[in-house]
Amino acid sequence: MIDLPQAALALHARALLLISAPAVALLNATELQAMAAHEIGHEYVWIEWNRARQRADRERLKELELICDAIAAVILRQLGMDPSKLIEGVEKVTRFNRERFGSATHENSYPTLGERRAFAREIDRWLRGSYHLTAYGRVATGTLPKRGCRPRRIGRIGVTIPPP
Ligand SMILES: [Zn+2]
Repeated sequence: MIDLPQAALALHARALLLISAPAVALLNATELQAMAAHEIGHEYVWIEWNRARQRADRERLKELELICDAIAAVILRQLGMDPSKLIEGVEKVTRFNRERFGSATHENSYPTLGERRAFAREIDRWLRGSYHLTAYGRVATGTLPKRGCRPRRIGRIGVTIPPP
């Protein structure tokens, strides 16, 4: 746990999950677990994320955030938990930080709440057994595996997500 005024979770050095004190106070246990699952997702895209940050490639950074949401949804579902808790947690944290600190300087490297909600609905449909993840154009242009298939790539995204 770290002493920060903002509500935040972050994966440090691919190994340590940092959770700020306000995040612990703000989020309930399931939201905290869901957001931790998102941070675990960052481990899968660590190198790509750093490359995108060096290039200041905001679009790619946004896509990678959504990929982390997708990984979190798969993890949560595999644990028998509700993936929608992630968005609920993100909403709480965003509201908390905006009310106190205004919009963050890195906000343009993050998908909007609306984009995350829309993508979460697509992921949910996929997890429920649809063949295709369709709606989120640039992120999910490809065909997704049917449930139970071997792991493969989602669209042009260079990350393998295990099947639910
Ligand atoms: Zn993230």
